[in-house]
Amino acid sequence: MAEQYKLLFVESFKGRVLFNVPMKEYTTLRIGGPADVMAFPKDEADLKHLLSFAGAKGFKVYVIGAGSNILVRDGGIRGIVVNITEGFTDISWLDDERAVVGAGVRLSTLCRECAERGLSGIEFAAGIPATVGGAVYMNAGAYGSEMKDVVEGVEVIGRRGKKGFIPKADIGFAYRHTELPEDAVIVNVHMKFRRADRKAIEEKMKEFRKRRDKTTPIGLPSAGSIFKNPEGVAAGKLIEEAGLKGVSSGDAKISEVHANYIVNTGNARATDVLNLIALMRDRVFAKTGIMLEPEIKVIGESLTR
Ligand SMILES: Cc1cc2nc3c(=O)[nH]c(=O)nc-3n(C[C@H](O)[C@H](O)[C@H](O)COP(=O)(O)OP(=O)(O)OC[C@H]3O[C@@H](n4cnc5c(N)ncnc54)[C@H](O)[C@@H]3O)c2cc1C
Repeated sequence: MAEQYKLLFVESFKGRVLFNVPMKEYTTLRIGGPADVMAFPKDEADLKHLLSFAGAKGFKVYVIGAGSNILVRDGGIRGIVVNITEGFTDISWLDDERAVVGAGVRLSTLCRECAERGLSGIEFAAGIPATVGGAVYMNAGAYGSEMKDVVEGVEVIGRRGKKGFIPKADIGFAYRHTELPEDAVIVNVHMKFRRADRKAIEEKMKEFRKRRDKTTPIGLPSAGSIFKNPEGVAAGKLIEEAGLKGVSSGDAKISEVHANYIVNTGNARATDVLNLIALMRDRVFAKTGIMLEPEIKVIGESLTR
């Protein structure tokens, strides 16, 4: 099975390549069957080479960052998973407020660097276990702020290896959503922050981390919120009022701390999580008439046996 992909990597690809990779090792939920291939492009040339090869051969490509918002089904992924966390990790400062940030940079690293430089705007992201690229793609947010507030545009490489720049106005930012083209891999994010007092920034980050630790299940694998919040109401509240806190399927459990989180208490399978997701949607719909919309991205194949 790996043979068909090997051609891609015999020459000119500088990054690491793994075959038959358990996706559970690359998702924060610690769930997911094997991916045929995982490639870690080192730079843009590597990524362009990979994407044009995959495009020409008709191989499917899936991009992941920190894997903190994805559920990979138990049958795994037929195709190539592009993991951007081993390249695209530079932060280049254009002036004292603006930077070009690699998509593979961790939000925690960016938060630290901004705090050190006395730059405000990204405090809300302290404690979100994501890459900058994944956070922009999802328009991640918390405590009243979102990635869109600090993004000026993104550099992307399309699935045929073509590079482009998409300005903020064309990204289509919405609540936990963007309208980026299906085939676009974000490689760099142009960001702008505001100068502020370093101590105040650090305090704000500390405060947000504390709130997070109190209100979300820490210490157990999860993918953050399963559903988006419907207009004017928290999804977690609806799930809790439907009496579902603590309900399990296999080793997957609706968190007792925050009902919009599913935690993996051991060796949960994707099917267990999908069972709980269906239950949460059904029960909330039956009680309120509100159909919850998933925030997490479900990818890969079901097990056939
Ligand atoms: C404990 C915990 C707390 C969380 N708290 C929050 C929170 O407060 N607010 C919030 O919004 N989210 C939260 N999340 C969810 C998650 O961290 C965010 O959705 C985050 O933006 C996902 O980033 P990632 O790098 O992990 O992306 P992944 O999960 O790897 O990917 C998510 C999606 O982005 C796409 N993608 C990733 N990188 C790229 C790229 N370079 N180019 C194009 N597409 C890309 C993927 O294809 C996929 O569709 C939390 C998750 C956890 C586990």
